[in-house]
Amino acid sequence: MDLFDFKDGREGYYGEYGGTFLPEILHSTIEELKAEFRKAKEDPAFWQEFMQLMQSYSGRPTPVTHLENLSKKLGGAQIYVKREDLNHTGSHKINNVMGQGLLVKRMGKTRVIAETGAGQHGYATATMAARFGFESRIYMGAIDVARQRPNVFWMENMGSEVIAVTDGQQTLKDAINECLRDWVTNMDDTHYVLGTACGPHPFPEMVSWFQSIIGREAREQMLSSAGKLPDRIYACVGGGSNAIGLFQGFMDDKDVQLVGCEAGGFGPGKGNHASRLAYKDASVGVAQGMKTYFLQNDDGNMLETHSVAAGLDYIGVNPVLVHLWEEDRVRFEAVTDTQVTEALKVTMRSEGLIPALETAHAFAQAILEAEQMSKDDVVLINMSGRGDKDIFTIADALGDDHWKKFIKQKADAYSSEG
Ligand SMILES: *Cc1c(COP(=O)(O)O)cnc(C)c1O
Repeated sequence: MDLFDFKDGREGYYGEYGGTFLPEILHSTIEELKAEFRKAKEDPAFWQEFMQLMQSYSGRPTPVTHLENLSKKLGGAQIYVKREDLNHTGSHKINNVMGQGLLVKRMGKTRVIAETGAGQHGYATATMAARFGFESRIYMGAIDVARQRPNVFWMENMGSEVIAVTDGQQTLKDAINECLRDWVTNMDDTHYVLGTACGPHPFPEMVSWFQSIIGREAREQMLSSAGKLPDRIYACVGGGSNAIGLFQGFMDDKDVQLVGCEAGGFGPGKGNHASRLAYKDASVGVAQGMKTYFLQNDDGNMLETHSVAAGLDYIGVNPVLVHLWEEDRVRFEAVTDTQVTEALKVTMRSEGLIPALETAHAFAQAILEAEQMSKDDVVLINMSGRGDKDIFTIADALGDDHWKKFIKQKADAYSSEG
């Protein structure tokens, strides 16, 4: 099943979701991107080049690890994880960013811009720009700049200009708007490196394609290490790129259940969470270049959201996943901040692994379900990133006052130097 052959429908649509909702002035640059992407996708040499780059620069293929201790402790299904945390820069984001970098080179452009919330995508883009020799500018809400000083420090030292956006709520949404403004002005030499499988066509398809490297590897690795395909696979869903990346490897395996884990925050109730589908608080709308489900009020104004994980705290969601959810191919669940803390504790203690807060949403749901399954069952979790970046938040969530104070002093010293 190819999610992206648009033979029976409109190009860039998944059911009624997706599309290209952009100001007229950007049409020529989107057409240029689409054409270059189509050529690359049809050229086996391009995928070879991408794989070689990811091998030599980011350590791919990332392994699959059997969590024997945790599986035994729960007494249910055998738990495996796909180790995207072992990538350079610590998460799956680099897959998409390096892929887009190769396309930028093909288009002959010399400058890249990107939006970032928590800073992970900005960090990955700054890395890519340094490696390829592109000029780069990262837009980040002023509040996020203050909260994420270490990421800003590294981005600047890798040669990116970081712009603190002071419009609106001074967070991710405002950074995206500023990025689009820059793109309109500079599209002749500039590419907008979008960070997740959202936005106008071809971004959802393009980002999904680069991230499909996760699922392609994982399917083979499960067959060789577990001797069978997993019964269920789990991924956290912010914009949806690591989830669609893993799920694509198992689309045709009808017996493999696909589970997307959203940020349940404080629990159900508008404003308490960032769950678009599981809690049914979102509705269909058009924003940020696409038609999909958004957390919005009746006037179409976006709601405030909450999650302990900055990377899942997003108002919209990948249109392909929405379509697969409506077709009952993907199940969506919401995981609360409290469940996330518990999952982190047990994973750190039993396996010596530190999942990112985003990733821990998938761990929490998998742990909950694995316990009820039989010892012959197998589940696979996408470990989208490592938790080192979350040290302040995790210390906070664990109520570790001593370390909290120590870490805060260090952070303050770091930021006044930086
Ligand atoms: C950004 C991020 C996410 C959320 O983004 P998706 O596009 O939904 O994958 C999840 N995990 C980690 C570690 C991230 O950095």
